[in-house]
Amino acid sequence: METILSLKNLDKKYGQVHAVNNLSFDIQKGNVYGILGPNGSGKSTTLGIILNVVNKTSGEFSWFNGDLSTHEALKKVGAIIERPNFYPYMTATQNLKLICKIKGISSEKIDEKLKAVNLFDRKNSKFKTFSLGMKQRLAIASALLNDPEILILDEPTNGLDPQGIHEIRQIIKDIASNGTTILLASHLLDEVEKVCSHVVVIRNGIKLYSGRVDEMTASKGLFELKVNENEEELIVVLENHPAISKISKDHETIIATLNSEISSTEINKFLFEKGFILSHLVKRKPSLEQQFLDLTKNK
Ligand code: ADP
Ligand code: MG
Repeated sequence: METILSLKNLDKKYGQVHAVNNLSFDIQKGNVYGILGPNGSGKSTTLGIILNVVNKTSGEFSWFNGDLSTHEALKKVGAIIERPNFYPYMTATQNLKLICKIKGISSEKIDEKLKAVNLFDRKNSKFKTFSLGMKQRLAIASALLNDPEILILDEPTNGLDPQGIHEIRQIIKDIASNGTTILLASHLLDEVEKVCSHVVVIRNGIKLYSGRVDEMTASKGLFELKVNENEEELIVVLENHPAISKISKDHETIIATLNSEISSTEINKFLFEKGFILSHLVKRKPSLEQQFLDLTKNK
């Protein structure tokens, strides 16, 4: 696994306000991370610190294993943390060309990135004619112009209508499926559930949970399983098991989400009788979901 970003004991105080409190987590290449927490929980401050626009009070963060200076590392990062400033009377293409010029990057990817955010057919329309969703998509295109290793988005669907929200989420998933790592901040549990593979939940700047989204939201719990051989056959057997509602994979581990109660002993016996010898079996029973729901509702 390749670590893109690592935060260690990061802290930020604004006077009396402890906005980020001893926060540590790692971002691995290829995953989609959500920082989830209610408004005021320190999400934007955290993003600001790692992007060098907010000064940390203490702690550390390092990009790409610390092999590059933050300045060099940030050239490999695409970020939208504020409403972007585009020129209203310039077209989508003209705005992106200007950004390329300012950033000193080639403008050859403009069409490709406009296609990636479904704006290619509007490339010659003036920015002021765009809906809010289109403006946000143009911002995403602009953040992708340098083919970043990681795309960082702060509340990417705020203020959009349901159709606009759906489009942005789909675009984020498409970008992720092409291998770009994503870090997004959101106060919406359902957004993180729909878009992210991993989540860091914070409240009052304090990390409450970090891990896979599957694990956080499975209400009957889940099994982690590994076998050294016949993995595909195992997946088929699990998929057909009545107590299992969903199968996914996290690197070498199979994650079986449960829809009814079943013990480790029962599943182990069942699989053994089918000829599978597990090299790893853990039952996880997340009890945090309600807590997350409560804290994200508690705006
Ligand atoms: P979130 O993005 O999760 O809504 P923020 O990072 O914006 O949270 O804010 C975290 C806390 O820090 C809040 O209490 C907020 O009022 C405070 N805060 C954020 N920016 C500043 C600032 N520039 N000066 C003083 N307090 C700030
Ligand atoms: Mg914020």
